[in-house]
Amino acid sequence: METFDYVIIGAGSAGSVLANRLSEDGGTSICVLEAGPSDWHPYIHLPAGFIKTFHMKSINWAYQQEPGPWTGGRSIYAPRGKTLGGSSSINGHIYNRGQRQDFDTWAQLGNRGWGYPDVLPYFKRLERRVGEGEDTFRGRDGALTVTTMDWRDPLCEAFMAGAMSLGIPRNQDYNGAIQEGVSYAQRTIQNGLRVSAATAFLRPAMKRPNVHVRTHAHATNIIFEGKRAVGVRYIRGGKGGTPVEVRANREVILSGGTYNSPQLLQLSGVGSPELLGSLGIEVRHALPGVGEGLQDHYAPRSVARVKNIKTINELRRGLSLWVEALKWATTRRGLLSLSPTMVYCFWHSGESTESSDLQLTFTPASYKEGVQGQLEDEPGMTVASWQQRPESRGYVRARSADPFAPPIIQTNYLVEELDRRTVVAGMKLARRLLSSAPLAPYFAYEDFPGPKVQSDDEFLAAATERGTTTFHPGCTCRMGPADAKWAVVDDQLRVHGLTGLRVVDASIMPRMISANLNASTLMIADKASDMIRGKAAPEAVVIR
Ligand SMILES: Cc1cc2nc3c(=O)[nH]c(=O)nc-3n(C[C@H](O)[C@H](O)[C@H](O)COP(=O)(O)OP(=O)(O)OC[C@H]3O[C@@H](n4cnc5c(N)ncnc54)[C@H](O)[C@@H]3O)c2cc1C
Repeated sequence: METFDYVIIGAGSAGSVLANRLSEDGGTSICVLEAGPSDWHPYIHLPAGFIKTFHMKSINWAYQQEPGPWTGGRSIYAPRGKTLGGSSSINGHIYNRGQRQDFDTWAQLGNRGWGYPDVLPYFKRLERRVGEGEDTFRGRDGALTVTTMDWRDPLCEAFMAGAMSLGIPRNQDYNGAIQEGVSYAQRTIQNGLRVSAATAFLRPAMKRPNVHVRTHAHATNIIFEGKRAVGVRYIRGGKGGTPVEVRANREVILSGGTYNSPQLLQLSGVGSPELLGSLGIEVRHALPGVGEGLQDHYAPRSVARVKNIKTINELRRGLSLWVEALKWATTRRGLLSLSPTMVYCFWHSGESTESSDLQLTFTPASYKEGVQGQLEDEPGMTVASWQQRPESRGYVRARSADPFAPPIIQTNYLVEELDRRTVVAGMKLARRLLSSAPLAPYFAYEDFPGPKVQSDDEFLAAATERGTTTFHPGCTCRMGPADAKWAVVDDQLRVHGLTGLRVVDASIMPRMISANLNASTLMIADKASDMIRGKAAPEAVVIR
């Protein structure tokens, strides 16, 4: 059996950073197992390719969630990257860290070293910020390039002026001192190309002789000797392929993402004994929190029809598209360099809220049924709005002992009353933004939810009918102290009760943060790499 020091399962956001940092020690050997193929496909790298990779099954797990009590009987689509870079290779490129309270809350839950002063140095170390930002908060020398959206559009400008007319300030850097305000989006885009975790971290690491990346390698089990993880079994070539085992001298690191990491633990006999028993899986280690606690952001997308100006809906057709393709080829700018959202707005749902609890995005485009993937034919603009820190929690459970069967994903969107109230407040704010005076020259009428929707109950019904994921699932292998029943890993990300095994990805978040999750997942992996290597953490940045 081949032996490495570390075996990392998953070459996604977290796995890519880990492979890079751990391989800095030349004497250490690292094997990375990735179920998907290499990230060669041009649509991965072309920013507007997002719309294609969204459904591309060769590089996307393309899961379906279970219908929830508040999704109107709908099963919501849940894309996940299945290629080098993982979800960072198919995501919407937005760079958003969250608020300092998010991480302070993690620390207050008993996780030492995870407060904002502790995690800020890692955010800084990872990034190469090009553009606005104070050096207290922003890094300039990292591998992850973060730029600001450079598309200028009268509709975006009018939207921001509209926000300011409602008292929402312009914020030059929502990843700086304060998140609240409105601004152009910050993105992981460089010279008109996507910066994924693979291009920033994994590909440079692959040039080192001690990094061995296996694609089309679907991990099916963690191998244990007693309570120690000693290796991984995988199928080369996917379902029906060849079984292979690799051994880890030091550690197995599970970075399969929020849906797959708990599923793989369960398939390996780590989880709730009731669940494992019902699936006929022998219990290796009882850990009831595995898969429990799933959180995500739930967003209704409000749509208005547009007059007097072209929107992206028309620009992507016929001759206009050819012009845009030429523009991208020659300047790396224009329509094909765009992300799915252009403007970000953070605001609070009520005066009693201490910090912003709503995130809203603006796009001068609209999608069929309000879901990203297919642009509409007539001109439109969209405001997606969501609650930043939902209370509702669901779960991920293996469907069967078959490692190729998709897991059961039940997010339980909106089951908590606070979530319903906040989502309704977000939709009302979206309406006020779309009907602001500066947007009036372009606003034809509200298409969704539509003027008939007036009461809170009607807004809630509309949210139930059309809300979707914003693709931010987390919290299924939560970090917490050993005496917390829900905790799966400790604050060093070691699985409670086992040795030689860590989980390092978005699943370890104990609570949802006020942000899209890529930036914080990269941070988690960078911090974990120091822990694994026994390196001291950088000095905390205390901000008064
Ligand atoms: C469509 C979409 C849009 C998004 N937009 C944004 C955005 O704009 N900004 C933002 O910050 N966040 C965004 N996100 C979320 C963000 O990209 C993810 O939260 C983040 O990438 C998660 O990182 P991860 O390491 O936890 O998992 P992933 O990056 O998903 O990595 C997991 C990896 O493990 C592999 N894997 C899983 N199971 C196995 C197995 N059994 N064997 C071998 N390999 C396995 C997977 O194929 C994958 O490569 C988006 C996500 C999606 C899907």
